[in-house]
Formats: sequence, structure tokens, C-alpha cells
Amino acid sequence: MPKFIEAIKLSNKVSKALKLFNFEATSFPGKIVQKFYPNFLAECAEYISHPRFAVTGTNGKTTTSGILSEILDKKGLKIISNKLGANMPNGIVTALAKGLYGGDGNNVKKMDGVVLECDEAYFSTISNKFVFDYILITNLFRDQLDRYGEMDIARKKIIKGIELNPDIKIILNADDPSLSEITEKLNYNDDKFIYFGFENIEYIDYEKNSNSPKETISCPKCGENILYTKRFYAQLGAWYCSCHNQRKTPDVRANAIVYPDKTILNVTYKNEKFEFKVNLSGLYNAYNALGAIAAALVSGVEPNFIEEALNSYSPVFGRHQKVKLNNGGVMTIHLIKNPVGASEVLRGLKNLKNSRMVIAINDNYADGRDVSWLWDADFESLSDFSNVIYTTGIRSYDMSLRLKYANVNPVLIETFDSTDKVTIGIEAAIEELNENEDLVVLTTYTGLLEVNKNINKLIKKYGAN
Ligand SMILES: [Zn+2]
Repeated sequence: MPKFIEAIKLSNKVSKALKLFNFEATSFPGKIVQKFYPNFLAECAEYISHPRFAVTGTNGKTTTSGILSEILDKKGLKIISNKLGANMPNGIVTALAKGLYGGDGNNVKKMDGVVLECDEAYFSTISNKFVFDYILITNLFRDQLDRYGEMDIARKKIIKGIELNPDIKIILNADDPSLSEITEKLNYNDDKFIYFGFENIEYIDYEKNSNSPKETISCPKCGENILYTKRFYAQLGAWYCSCHNQRKTPDVRANAIVYPDKTILNVTYKNEKFEFKVNLSGLYNAYNALGAIAAALVSGVEPNFIEEALNSYSPVFGRHQKVKLNNGGVMTIHLIKNPVGASEVLRGLKNLKNSRMVIAINDNYADGRDVSWLWDADFESLSDFSNVIYTTGIRSYDMSLRLKYANVNPVLIETFDSTDKVTIGIEAAIEELNENEDLVVLTTYTGLLEVNKNINKLIKKYGAN
């Protein structure tokens, strides 16, 4: 049997075995496969047609890839995607081995394309062996400094990965000036780049002001600080520099009307106009949707498939998914991992009523070991929160301290012991809910994995019938 097929079978055997013992099987099988057959990733290309998308950037990778896969799925394409967000090489190989597995003996399934979420630091490792047609870059925010050093390193690694695929087209957020350096450094023709961005944003019953940290970005051409005619959040907006370097007019541009639980996008592409409804909260998710829409439009997908996909898209667990509870309330879970992302999530929760909150902070490797970012996120927006906030996870005490400094009433803060599991904190919170009271859970990545693993148990115990 060819080694490639053996590798696929091995990966799926390992996955099955891990699941028997209730272990996460999103990365480890890929590790085994790469040891067993180092040429695996390169050989995958023979069984996978086009389009092939990579999605990278600091925030929004999982949601953007999720929406894009859903769109391609509606078009009837068989797509492989690492939907659970395991975005380092082992996770990507695991997803590919699973997607290609024929299940009927020796056959490997042929697939129509991929949407692969790639960690910024590992995109070049993947693109070195697997050629992409498009890379979509969502944004670059300051993130987990201990792991990457700084934004600059992420940018360099993305550029390196792009250079390995000379025919790749680059789809990027025009509103993020920190990406303009990528355009400058690559020095490609304009037709290699496709920009998406917002022209105007209107808020209805949604907090108008963003308190995300506003990173100062310097112009890649002259080094001066970037200026703005409009700033939407963090460094995103209509930016310009005194040297005439400025935001490119987006090829796919939109006006957004942001509501608490949805956003209406009026999108213009090649003189055609489309209206899309995105069933996710927050401007950050409108950006994710717009990125996916841009990728779909430029690769030739018809708008009706996009509309269908946006209607049916349900978030991967932990990304804004809602669970109906048996007390009549709803539990919503949000991933938080860096100052900008957390601040934008908190912005959407500012006027929350009749809800308690759980904040779960871990500092495992995948979360980033340094939790000092908590001090840059806008927890001050919770100072008016009038209900109990439970803190849990390995760094629950740090979180409680942060809330006290954010002027949250100390009487409302309930700290679970840091040695407890995140799920224990969530269960205790659910049990204390009054009738019809909601619960919002904010958690870092490994807390999310833990909740994900236990979600069926939680639903069985506390879910509404
Ligand atoms: Zn300049």
C-alpha cells in the first residue's frame, strides 16, 4: 500500500483511539502522520483541486474560514477545512488526513478545494509544501507577545509564506494600516491584491464607541504615524499618512448597519450591489463576514450561495454559539485572547441586562503564557455591570484583581479556585441562575477546548428540552 494511504489510515486510527478515551483529536494524529511520512502534506496536493484558500491574521481566522467554507459548501464543492481552529501544522495535517479519508478500504477521496486557517507564524511552513491560490489576511493586532515577539515578526512570516507561492493572490483588509507593509514589501503588481473594507458604519442599539487599545502604526513608506478620517476600532479605519500613502480603495467595499445580534452589509463589487445579513454580533464579526464574502466573490462564487451560507452559518462552538438553558435563559460563549478582540466582545456586552457572566482565564501555551494583556483590554466597560461575575481558570485570581481595578463592585466578583476546571465554574454559575437569567461566558482558548469537550454533558444536564 502506498505510504500516503497508509498515513491517512494511521491518522484516522489514531483519531478514533483518542476519541475512545475522550481526548481531543484535532492535532495529535497530524503529528504522528508527519513523523510516519514527512512528504504527506506535499502529496495531499495531488488529491485536492481548486480553489485553495489560506486564512491568516490575528483575530477572526476561525469565523472567517467557517463562513467561507459554508459558502463553498452551498456552491456544492467538497471542501476540507480545519473548522475547530487547530491551525498549526499538526492540526492542518490532521484535518487534511480526515478530509481525504475514503473510508472504504484503499480509496482516497478526491476533494474540490480547501479553506485552511493558518497560524501567522506557521503559514510559511504550510505554503512551503502546499500551494494556495489565495491567502486572506484578516488583520494584525498585538497578540500574545511571548510567543511571537511582536507584530513585525508575524508580518515577516506571512510575507515569507506568500513568496513561496508566486501565483497566490492576496485578499486583505484595506482598513488595517498594519497590513500595508505587506503590500509595500512584496512589491507585486496591483492585480495581485484584492482589498476589502468598510466605507461607513451605523450602529443601532449598539455601543457606538470602541475602547479597544489604539495601537499607533507607523507608515511603512516614511515612518510617520498613521492618521485617520474615520476610525472604526483599534487601528482599523480610513487611514492616511502625510506622505500620501493611504488606505487603498477596497475592491469589495461595504456599508454596515450593526445591531446587537446581527449586521446588515451593503456590499459593492465591480459596480454591482448586494445586501447580506450576517447573524453574528459585533463589528469584528462583520469584518470576518466581509473577508469571507470578498474571497467568495473574487473566486467567482455567485452571490445567492453567499446569501444562503450567511443564513445557515452557525458558529463553531465557542464562537458566539448560543445554548438554551432549562431555566429559560441562554448561555453564550465568546473566545477572548488579546486586548482588541476582548475589548470588542466586551463592547457588545456593555448594555447587557438580566445576565450573569463567567470569565475563564488560562495561561497554557496555546493561550499565551503572559496574561498581562488583561490589563490592556477594556474590562472597565463592566464597571456598571450589576450582576455576579464569576472568574475561573488557572489565572482566576489575576482576573478578579483586574475586575477590581476596573471598578467592578467587589461584592459581585466571585472567584473560583485556580486549580478548578473551567467547566466547574460554569456549572456552578448555571446552578445559581434565576429563572430566565442568561449567562455569558468569556474564555481563553484552552478553556474553550475544555468547554467544547464537555458541552454535551452540559447540555444534557442544563439544556432546555
Ligand atoms: Zn507615510
